[in-house]
Amino acid sequence: MERGIRAGLPRKEGGGAQVRRPIGVLNCKTGMGKTFDIGLERLTGGSEFSIGSAIHTVHRNASRNEGSAAHAGARDAIRGALRGTFFLETFGCQMNDHDSEKVAGVLLSRGYTQVESPESASLILYNTCSIREKAAQKVFSRLGEFGLTENAGRIIGVLGCVAQQEGEEIFRRAPWVSLVCGSASYSKLPELLAQVEAGNQRVTGLDTDTDETFETEITRRDNPWRAYLTIIEGCDKACSYCVVPYTRGPERSRASDSILREVRQLADLGYSEVQLLGQTVNSYKDPTPRKMRFSELLLAVADAVGIRRVRFTTSHPSDFTQDIVDAIDSQPKLCNHVHLPVQSGSTRVLRAMQRTYSRAEYLEKIRMIRGAKRAISITTDIIVGFPGETQGDLAETLSLLDAVKYDNMFSFKYSPRPHTPSLAMSDLISEEEKSRRLALLQEKQREIQTARHLTMVGENFELLVSGKSRRENQWSGHTSCHRVINFSSQEHALLGKYVQVQVTGATPNSLLGEQAL
Ligand code: SAM
Ligand code: SF4
Repeated sequence: MERGIRAGLPRKEGGGAQVRRPIGVLNCKTGMGKTFDIGLERLTGGSEFSIGSAIHTVHRNASRNEGSAAHAGARDAIRGALRGTFFLETFGCQMNDHDSEKVAGVLLSRGYTQVESPESASLILYNTCSIREKAAQKVFSRLGEFGLTENAGRIIGVLGCVAQQEGEEIFRRAPWVSLVCGSASYSKLPELLAQVEAGNQRVTGLDTDTDETFETEITRRDNPWRAYLTIIEGCDKACSYCVVPYTRGPERSRASDSILREVRQLADLGYSEVQLLGQTVNSYKDPTPRKMRFSELLLAVADAVGIRRVRFTTSHPSDFTQDIVDAIDSQPKLCNHVHLPVQSGSTRVLRAMQRTYSRAEYLEKIRMIRGAKRAISITTDIIVGFPGETQGDLAETLSLLDAVKYDNMFSFKYSPRPHTPSLAMSDLISEEEKSRRLALLQEKQREIQTARHLTMVGENFELLVSGKSRRENQWSGHTSCHRVINFSSQEHALLGKYVQVQVTGATPNSLLGEQAL
């Protein structure tokens, strides 16, 4: 398979000749869009080293000359000139980023060319997130930027969780959309597009209970060193606030032999870090007769020649078992970081959230991870303002932060979502109070992180270098424990290399360092 396509071969806009730049440079403009890894971006609190993936800032030309014959002629000219080009914008988590890599792969393998603005595209796709209301709203505001007469014959499609959540309702709200497709149907995209091109104005791909999710012929990866790999789709947990089981369907695990085959291919292509993805990645159940446990799969992935780091996210506390800790202990290639969302420190709220564990049981998992021979960093997700959350519940969440001392935390105000049990709950918390609780939580975590980072000054870490600053000799990369260090080095061409860095300074959100000799 051609490496250029897999790694996101840059293509010149406007149908011009393709330009081969070093792999990863298209979509890798400093200060643009978001970093390769939304987790890393959150970890650093947004870094000037951010390297954009295939997510583009859209600058629109507001002047349009609608309704006239000249406009119709111009529209046909645009339609002809832009044929076979696509623009893809992604919202949401790593799983969505990776889904977009698959979508781009499918389109590139069908002869489409990726362009950097909707104006240059004949096909405009939004890969959407609906985990919180704000994320879903963003997509409708994007769609609102196109009117019936404004899309000049372009095909506009909505993919992902909002597509799945809203279904055909999207056609009503934005009649200029002609394709609505959930994540389980991406391998069918060429057929769906053929239907749109044949004149069908309302095409949907909304099955969720299908195994075809994992296999697309070509994945056009945005990051040339770290490859995402979804090993489990959907979710069988039923957290009362969460729309994922509705939008991504029931849990389906990918066959272990297919995962390992792809990992070997990735290693041959030069990827050194692999991140296994799933909403509950550690609930993995190998559907093949081999019946590999998740921990065995981790070790098998790490065995692939050329792979130096293996990450996995997100882990569900209830399915986090000692054998995973033992695997991390026995194999240094398994990164010493576990993302273990707790959501609340109050057992009462956890029950209302249907999280399947109590505070005490969660803390037992933390003790298990802390018992490892290697120091494993632990990060978490927390929701504040769940219906009925009292000041006492909040105090328990704050005390949990003291008890665990997380290396990082991603915190959210509760957002009521359609098709979720918590939507019917009473005793809602006002937005103002949610904001107050969020600020308290974040202030506590900030103190914890500041203190933790200060203890790291003087320590050495191995980094995979993934960013170059505009400033001379300034680079950034991440440690195995998933911290970002911004560092100086006199060396050139460090991107994609592993280097030793000594920490020289600390901020609440990131570390500063110098390349160690
Ligand atoms: N599967 C993961 C788990 O079990 O923790 C989480 C996946 S979800 C995409 C990421 C995070 O979004 C969750 O951990 C939760 O903190 C947050 N989240 C999900 N639904 C939410 C809601 N309705 N309101 C606010 N935050 C929400
Ligand atoms: Fe949503 Fe809960 Fe499933 Fe995570 S485990 S995806 S929070 S339902």
